[in-house]
Amino acid sequence: MDFTLSDEQQQLHESLVAFARDVVEPEAGARDREGRFDRAVWDACGEVGLTGICISEEYGGGGAGALDTGLALEALAYGGHDAGLGLSMGAHLVIGSKPIDLHGTPEQKAKYLPKLASGEWIGAFGITEPDAGSDTASLTSRGVRDGDHWILNGTKTFITNGPVCDVFTVVVRTDPDASAGAGMTAFVLDADTPGLSVGNHLDKMGNRSSPTSEMIMEDVRVPDSARLGAEGSALWAVGFECFDWERTVMLGSAIGGMQRGLDDAIAYAKQREAFGKPIAHFQAIGHKFADMKMNLEASRLMLRQGAWLKDQGLEHMMEASMAKAFIAKCALENADNAIQVHGGWGYIKDFPVERAWRDAKLSSIGGGTTEIQKMVISRMLLS
Ligand SMILES: Cc1cc2nc3c(=O)[nH]c(=O)nc-3n(C[C@H](O)[C@H](O)[C@H](O)COP(=O)(O)OP(=O)(O)OC[C@H]3O[C@@H](n4cnc5c(N)ncnc54)[C@H](O)[C@@H]3O)c2cc1C
Repeated sequence: MDFTLSDEQQQLHESLVAFARDVVEPEAGARDREGRFDRAVWDACGEVGLTGICISEEYGGGGAGALDTGLALEALAYGGHDAGLGLSMGAHLVIGSKPIDLHGTPEQKAKYLPKLASGEWIGAFGITEPDAGSDTASLTSRGVRDGDHWILNGTKTFITNGPVCDVFTVVVRTDPDASAGAGMTAFVLDADTPGLSVGNHLDKMGNRSSPTSEMIMEDVRVPDSARLGAEGSALWAVGFECFDWERTVMLGSAIGGMQRGLDDAIAYAKQREAFGKPIAHFQAIGHKFADMKMNLEASRLMLRQGAWLKDQGLEHMMEASMAKAFIAKCALENADNAIQVHGGWGYIKDFPVERAWRDAKLSSIGGGTTEIQKMVISRMLLS
């Protein structure tokens, strides 16, 4: 078994960490306080190829697989310390763009992918509804045929990048009589399509530089050419595939955040003195670093195992769900320990560790909750 990164992978990681330290980190705290998405930072990410890293090369992307995409998100989070940007980037890549890359017609790919890859356009994806989150099969947004067009109605919520997106991929119910999980179809919509609007902006506890909102469809009329993939099969072919990308890739951001939290806590403990010596010399503090390091390395290995299996085309559903649930727990534990090492200052907003704790909580919710991951794991064990 070889767990080492190739020279190219190491180079990718190092160059993105350096970029993120220079461009992303300086205003990260301010963006969190203000709940502000920064278009200039996004555009800079486009210039270094981040916004298209996993999009096919023939459409201007980097053609990276799950492992390298996760590695890029890890580097962005480690150097940039801006989990919200990581969330927006991850959503743009793996749920906003990848479904078009995988299922789009040649015309859809040619229209959307080059601009998504360059970052000129921002992607978003909507499956969640106010009354259908974990139970996506119960969604009620409707798509009704009207000759060679479709009329879409319904409200999607918790949409990452909703307020800033140019391209919105949405899953709606097109056959209300189909059996559970069937009868759903995906559509790619231009954000300025008449009838499509941004609803309430959602004010989040963490990841605050990533904009989140409802997306409302009121008699949105689109031609059949806006349909993404086959009619009736979107829940499995598009929705669950998005979840799979989320589970094998997006928590690269959490890994980068954990590494950064550990580095920062160690640096603080070496210079903060109590009882006449640096607190790093106390065994109780050292044990926290040991716990954080074990959580970090186990999380990293689990994520990379799932991503590697995915890249090889091998079965990885269990590994992806295990990684998602485990990393969510470790990220929060590590953020908690980083605050504890900082003592009272860790509780104060001047230090970024309290932000990391608020950011880390999302890992157990977005892209399928920890309870749902454990349901997947236990069902597979018991089948
Ligand atoms: C910041 C953020 C960004 C997001 N971005 C997007 C996005 O871009 N696009 C999108 O479509 N969605 C997005 N989501 C939605 C996210 O995927 C859902 O919030 C998540 O799947 C949970 O759904 P829910 O919030 O409706 O919770 P619910 O499904 O109502 O769950 C509530 C609680 O019940 C538990 N529960 C539910 N069912 C079961 C069960 N069978 N067994 C045991 N426990 C259960 C859950 O684990 C949870 O603890 C985002 C959410 C957040 C918070």
